[in-house]
Amino acid sequence: MFEGYYKKSRSERLQILRDYAGLTDAELAILNHEGALPFETANHMVENMISTFQVPLGLGLNMVVNGKKYAVPMATEEPSVIAAMSSASKLIAQSGGLKATSSGRLMVGQMAVYGVLNFERAKQTIIEHQTFLLDVANAAYPSLLKRGGGARELIVREVETTEEKIFVVHLHVETLEAMGANMINTMVEALCPDIERLTGGTAEMKILSNLTDQATATATCTIPTNLLFTKNRSGEEVRDRIVRAFAFSDADIYRAATHNKGIMNGIDAVLLAFGNDVRSIEASAHAFTARDGRYRPMSRWSVNARGDLVGELTLPMPVATVGGSIAISPLATLAKKIAKVENAEELAMLAVSVGLAQNLAALKALVTEGIQRGHMTLQAKSTAISAGAKGEEIERVAEKMLETGQINLSEAKKIIEEER
Ligand code: NDP
Repeated sequence: MFEGYYKKSRSERLQILRDYAGLTDAELAILNHEGALPFETANHMVENMISTFQVPLGLGLNMVVNGKKYAVPMATEEPSVIAAMSSASKLIAQSGGLKATSSGRLMVGQMAVYGVLNFERAKQTIIEHQTFLLDVANAAYPSLLKRGGGARELIVREVETTEEKIFVVHLHVETLEAMGANMINTMVEALCPDIERLTGGTAEMKILSNLTDQATATATCTIPTNLLFTKNRSGEEVRDRIVRAFAFSDADIYRAATHNKGIMNGIDAVLLAFGNDVRSIEASAHAFTARDGRYRPMSRWSVNARGDLVGELTLPMPVATVGGSIAISPLATLAKKIAKVENAEELAMLAVSVGLAQNLAALKALVTEGIQRGHMTLQAKSTAISAGAKGEEIERVAEKMLETGQINLSEAKKIIEEER
């Protein structure tokens, strides 16, 4: 039924799908609804394209990084993420805003060479021929060199499996505004014949590494306790509870995973809005976090000599403002304009800042009122809509559910029935 599906036009694909899944006209109309990304463009982006998938796009507000104010486009389906980011950013802005730095942007290409007999000699040979090899890599992608980027250095590593020792060569490349996956893959493939000739091995695996530890961004914030108090707790108590929550995540992988998920809530939302490859940023962030062999919380929270709460987050940020499908995605292009972000380095610092603000919001809520109160307000609205509430009814049904604390589909349906 799906034979040659990729060769069909979109409307032919929908006819086949209609028969296969028994779709109604109304369901077909959903698939035919064209959003900001034109079908024509989407059809060139992925295979077997049938429609486009939309998630809400909101603005994270109050963010101040290195003295610059940002309105941050965030694409996410999860309630509360944008509100939490905006409220934590407001708190941090009152304490002078976030400070962010970047380590520079070197991406990593990796070649695994098998069958090398003398590792020391091979390593020496690679070092001796480094200039020649960098020239070969650059010749494979001359436009990058012309723009001022290009291959910068070669590093040799040994990796041991249970079976054998692998001679691993890393190529560090400055990819400028691009994330660089395709650029680097082109370069390492071009390099391999010379690497094989010089080492006497076989380069079986050649692709970029998604652990981009040569392209990190760091965000920090310092918040005095007089800004942290809540209705029931002093600022000192909130501060100490946040630090204890961090210590718990540092000691327990179950908690660390959730701590980090909260950070990525913000980072993924920003980078999805910017049309970036979110999978690569996720892979990089989690690998970096476990780089010493133990999975840890991505951020750190401590108390400084003045008694202020200090947060710090360093993550690899292989972000891009060009390349991939960024230029052909109208909303990704708009995101850059709305956020007034000049380049990839600034985007990396903004994303990591959003991650830290998101983390503060989650920790503060968790150690004070609990996460559910804020989260459930929007969740109640989504539940009301799922149960069939319309217009003003949505708000009323959500409020009733929040009053009773019963936020679920059957309760929403019951309230709708009573109301009607
Ligand atoms: P591209 O292949 O699109 O290359 C970047 C493009 O941007 C080039 O065409 C380059 O032009 C252009 N460009 C314009 N201005 C600049 C500038 N200032 N700096 C740098 N480039 C500029 O993208 P990438 O190489 O970045 O690869 C990213 C894509 O690869 C993503 O879609 C990703 O999903 C995918 N990918 C990811 C993998 C992974 O993460 N493991 C694996 C494979 C693919 P010019 O050619 O003129 O230099």
